[in-house]
Amino acid sequence: MELKEMQKMIKEIYIHHDSRRGVYNTLKWLISEVEELDEAINNNDMQSIKEEASDVLAWLLSLMNLLSIDLEGAFLEKYNNKCPRCGAKPCTCDYRETPNNQ
Ligand SMILES: [Zn+2]
Repeated sequence: MELKEMQKMIKEIYIHHDSRRGVYNTLKWLISEVEELDEAINNNDMQSIKEEASDVLAWLLSLMNLLSIDLEGAFLEKYNNKCPRCGAKPCTCDYRETPNNQ
């Protein structure tokens, strides 16, 4: 199954709830699921990691459905078989340990 099909599947299952909830509250759900994935990784709980990662993707797809964004298309537009910063594969950018150190 490709990402485009997964996004359509999530739309068919949840669009009635997602539309009612709206963009901002759906984003809050996504953030909550990322925090649960963080906890699962900290606990080294592989079953929970798989479940929480799936939840993160499902909520991201719900959010994209609400914004009418084709995530597969957007992803391929940015990451077209190369790093979007340096244009190389593999990436030749300077290594960055965390998102905060430039
Ligand atoms: Zn790069």
